[in-house]
Amino acid sequence: MSVHVIDEANRCLQCTNPRCRENGCPIHTNIPKMIRLFKENRMMEAAEMLFENNPLSMICSLVCNHGNQCEGNCVRGIKGEPVHISSIENYISDSCFERLDLKPAPSNGMKAAVIGAGPAGITIAIILALKGYSITVFETHDKIGGILRYGIPEFRLPKSILDRYYKKMRELGIKFRPNFSIGGSTGIKDLLNDGYKSVFIGTGAWRPRKLGVPGETFGNVFYAINYLNNPDVYELGDKVAIIGAGNAAMDVARTAIRHGSKDVVVYVRGDEVSASPEEFEYAKVDGVKFEYRKSIVRIEDDGPVFKDDENVEKLVPADSVIIAISQVPQDRIVTREKDLKLNEKGNLATDSNGETSLPGVFASGDVVTGAKTVVAAVAVSKQIAEDMDRYMKSKKD
Ligand code: SF4
Repeated sequence: MSVHVIDEANRCLQCTNPRCRENGCPIHTNIPKMIRLFKENRMMEAAEMLFENNPLSMICSLVCNHGNQCEGNCVRGIKGEPVHISSIENYISDSCFERLDLKPAPSNGMKAAVIGAGPAGITIAIILALKGYSITVFETHDKIGGILRYGIPEFRLPKSILDRYYKKMRELGIKFRPNFSIGGSTGIKDLLNDGYKSVFIGTGAWRPRKLGVPGETFGNVFYAINYLNNPDVYELGDKVAIIGAGNAAMDVARTAIRHGSKDVVVYVRGDEVSASPEEFEYAKVDGVKFEYRKSIVRIEDDGPVFKDDENVEKLVPADSVIIAISQVPQDRIVTREKDLKLNEKGNLATDSNGETSLPGVFASGDVVTGAKTVVAAVAVSKQIAEDMDRYMKSKKD
């Protein structure tokens, strides 16, 4: 592994205008500098720079769509293979994580609440803790990670990484309230009344989007987000039909194969999958099959029924059907807090600073944008952490 990573680092041309960073990386990671420090045996400096720019660097190095981002833009890729940037970043972030010497600013005496310990919530909690705020994270599940833990399979992102993040966050003094949902007995206004100067909502998008066809409630039908939450408890059978063709559909298909299903087919509505090319290729390598131009009409006990271009209906026998056509936010918090406004898509409405219609209450990530990427959630959350900092300092007693 290390030889390979060193070889890859040696292939970097140290471009003056690095396309990997400027065109490719949504969070503008300084890739040439990372590689230069690595080659100069200054790996801790590289790791600190990576963490400061992107606290989820170790995670992004595994789950980002590198083929469309840094590596897809690397100048080396024009006539050959791009530098394998993700492996270098992963090597650095992973080997240095426990040794990162994070130095939080002295306590400023102010409290902030973070609702949801997914990518957005973790990012905000870390940044604000480093700025000297006392942070409490409220999480519905028993462990941190949100979609990273309960939506991305182990073979793409080992859950042990999230346990390491938990430890690091505890070292920063961040407090957690697991198994606790804001929006039930306790609302956002209770937090504000208790003296939290600002509240961040990063509760993600957990409600499966329905197909809207008959049969969705049958016992042989499951939604991707529920299946990925805990695949061990499902008995899918040999033949599995997956409706939807995004990255979640690829995760479901590859997980089902790893759990013993023999005939896993993804049914695509049009001519192309919407998953990233990398995930699509891996799914094919794993043995997932694809059927195109299949429009679902209904689901029966024996499998889904599709309509072809000639409007002819046909039952495809399957033991289980999994619907993977994305998620929308749960509306628990919104239902309780009538002052929180939604946008036209039904997500939380925020202004350009990420502030919701309730003063001091901010939001980002999937709960605002609908399901997007991890790195997009980090990029926006970095900005919002600065906005929350500004807001709280302006309200300091
Ligand atoms: Fe190195 Fe490729 Fe980035 Fe140029 S574009 S700095 S070769 S990684």
